[in-house]
Amino acid sequence: MSDHADADTTDESPLDAALSQIERAADLIDLDGDLLEILTHPDQSHKVSIPFRRDDDSIEVLTGYRVQHDGVLGPYKGGLRFHPDVDAAECEALAIWMTLKCALLDLPFGGAKGGVVVDPKDLSDREHERVTRRFAEELRRFIGPNYDVPAPDMGTDAQTMAWFMDAYSMQAGEAQPGVVTGKPPAIGGSHGRMEAPGRSTAIAVREACNHYNLQLDNMTVAVQGFGAVGENAARVLHEWGATVVAVSDLNGAYYDPDGLDIPYIIEETELGFADCEDCYEEKLPNDELLTLDVDVLIPAAIGGVLNESNAADVKADLIVEGANGPTTPAADRIFEERGIPVIPDVLANAGGVTVSYFEWLQDISRREWTLEEVREELGEKMLEAFAETEERVEEEGVTWREGAYMVALDRLVEAHELRGLWP
Ligand code: NAD
Repeated sequence: MSDHADADTTDESPLDAALSQIERAADLIDLDGDLLEILTHPDQSHKVSIPFRRDDDSIEVLTGYRVQHDGVLGPYKGGLRFHPDVDAAECEALAIWMTLKCALLDLPFGGAKGGVVVDPKDLSDREHERVTRRFAEELRRFIGPNYDVPAPDMGTDAQTMAWFMDAYSMQAGEAQPGVVTGKPPAIGGSHGRMEAPGRSTAIAVREACNHYNLQLDNMTVAVQGFGAVGENAARVLHEWGATVVAVSDLNGAYYDPDGLDIPYIIEETELGFADCEDCYEEKLPNDELLTLDVDVLIPAAIGGVLNESNAADVKADLIVEGANGPTTPAADRIFEERGIPVIPDVLANAGGVTVSYFEWLQDISRREWTLEEVREELGEKMLEAFAETEERVEEEGVTWREGAYMVALDRLVEAHELRGLWP
């Protein structure tokens, strides 16, 4: 579970960034102004109060959000964060990115995001469970397997989803596994869901290397964040022969220019990077990881870490976004000027929502896929989305982010035009 804040070093808020990115892509596809107006406003935004009992019997009231951005392609889909910085605007930005991500991967889902304003470190396990159950109850009018399907995000995990699914099911009077994804496999979760966003990030690195005629097994890689996304991206890239030279969590970075032993680090640091002296050659402050002289940089922790203040110092030749929104638009412009390609979050970490879609399919059809099936289907989906984005990059001379947004927007526009405006 995570325990961190989105960096406060952003030059633009996540919502400003998401809106300016969508407007830029809209320009590129000559999008009709009316549709842009629709896509720059969320369908619904819910704010709820969550009273819960502390272990000492006192009562506290937390605030929770769920923003549903655009449902033209299907039920809303997106994570739930437990984090002190959660607010309506951040949820809206993240919901916009989810809409684009689902459209890019051609999934029958719209975008949503939500969360609770709380530091999960301040909650005991029992308190975390009570907050989750009450949050599920407060959201039950706005969610459901055919309407809006949450998933884990920062500060929440498979156990949180299990409690959420149980609370929803108890009130429904029957098991409703399809109400959330990212559950443990024993109660309807999918094999390969936890590793999925990290695996897709690794696939994005591999495909980008192919595109630029680089050999993956000659690449050095630095990964910021060692949670669901970063750890799995590092593990898969290590398995595929890349040299992962730096990884980090909130407590700092481990660095070894000859390559870290990623499986050993995973084993030794289950509870965090506090200290494991034989895991590294050198320990670095977190922000130094971002400017290491490596071939590939994977920010996989929090938003806004690559911004106007450090973009000029980044020495990587390729950036692949494991986290959501790690690069601000100002940094994007600097990377474009410097010729550093950025494979965007909506493509790179889309494995999370893609395997969530597979989980949802398994839940509604009551059928379990094997890990091999999940990995194979994920690989195919990623290759399709990568190829469509690559085509825009090659044919229209746009950045990878612009290309990905253009593919996604085209799908959203077609669906909006076909469905028309009600009434
Ligand atoms: P997580 O909570 O599992 O892990 C986050 C990691 O980042 C932790 O190791 C934490 O210690 C570290 N971290 C936090 N602040 C840091 C800092 N300043 N410097 C270095 N490390 C720091 O979270 P996650 O699920 O891996 O999510 C990470 C990012 O990926 C988020 O932006 C999230 O929205 C995005 N994402 C997650 C999923 C998913 O399914 N989990 C899917 C797609 C995208």
